[in-house]
Amino acid sequence: MTDDRFSYATPRDAQTAKRIAVSGGAGFLGSHLCGRLIDAGHHVTCIDNFHTGRHANVAHLMSSDRFHLVAQDINEPLDEALGRFDQIYNLACPASPVHYQYDRVKTAMTCSIGTLNLLKRAAADGARFFQASTSEIYGDPEIHPQVESYRGNVNTVGPRSCYDEGKRFAETLVTDFGQQHGLTTRIVRIFNTYGPRMHPDDGRVVSNFIVQALAGRDITIYGTGEQTRSFCFVDDLIEGFIRLMETDEEIDGPVNIGNPNEITVNDLARRVIALSGSGSRLVYHPLPIDDPRRRKPDISRALAHLRWSPLVPLEEGLEQTIAYFAGELEGQRLAQSG
Ligand code: NAD
Ligand code: UDP
Repeated sequence: MTDDRFSYATPRDAQTAKRIAVSGGAGFLGSHLCGRLIDAGHHVTCIDNFHTGRHANVAHLMSSDRFHLVAQDINEPLDEALGRFDQIYNLACPASPVHYQYDRVKTAMTCSIGTLNLLKRAAADGARFFQASTSEIYGDPEIHPQVESYRGNVNTVGPRSCYDEGKRFAETLVTDFGQQHGLTTRIVRIFNTYGPRMHPDDGRVVSNFIVQALAGRDITIYGTGEQTRSFCFVDDLIEGFIRLMETDEEIDGPVNIGNPNEITVNDLARRVIALSGSGSRLVYHPLPIDDPRRRKPDISRALAHLRWSPLVPLEEGLEQTIAYFAGELEGQRLAQSG
């Protein structure tokens, strides 16, 4: 990662380099986080069960002797032989509705038992603990934009509940466990994020639209397309993660990290079509159950505590993501042809 817009004060010598565990490190966000931490000189242990993660996402890190890949489910306790950690980032959990609904009980367990296993390890090691939460904990929000003090409008028994309620429970667990065991904990509420290494089949709107546009297939809009989201480019998000983990400022409670630039799904589709030079048509499908109508982060807390705000405009981020998927699709085409 050579983009000098993203920098944070970091130890670059052997004495101050940290030992950091990243669960879910072979996934979309986790692989970018591992890369940033390796670039900063740290020792990174990536723990992943490869449910949605891919070896290809971390292939570029395998040559570093500071990067260790461990194939493990966090629902099992971490092996003590992995050594002591200074920091643990918990990103392990499928994030797209298609994947987290594939085995809903497993998703709920990963958020609960899996998180508890990592917290116990953090307590044993005296490690700082970072929990990847989500804007989904706000459900279909009645407050707009969403501030951290908003408590949400979530269905406990719908198709999204294993994830939404799983992540809500994880926030409670991390907070209570941290207080009872004297751990420093961080909770980030991540809003929709996109960028290279998204899974082409994960069903999320950015990846779906780009793959459809590049293949010249119809763009599938769910509902009227007038629902909104606010899309953050992955490099911006990871910068926010690291600032939140590294700050020694007292941070009381969760922090929203996301891009407040809100657009409709229709508008996103039109931009993807224009930027990819595609002739795809828009087609409309039923809206999934409990699909939030709008979403936009209030990032005042991130700005105040971390001096963080996103820097990458949507057009620029989409161009990079389209170039990534074009390369992926070309690779698939070549593999199939020969
Ligand atoms: P992803 O699906 O690409 O990555 C998740 C990773 O966790 C994968 O590598 C997967 O194999 C691994 N994993 C899942 N269950 C596991 C388990 N039980 N044990 C070990 N590894 C396991 O998703 P992502 O977009 O990179 O999301 C990462 C985290 O960020 C998730 O916790 C997700 O809830 C959160 N998040 C992401 C977004 C987003 O827009 N990408 C938004 C809100 C929250
Ligand atoms: N969506 C869509 N077409 C798709 C995939 C998603 O219109 O092919 C919609 C989806 O219904 C939602 C929005 O895009 O309103 C964002 O969906 P995504 O799954 O990316 O994220 P989330 O709903 O978790 O915010």
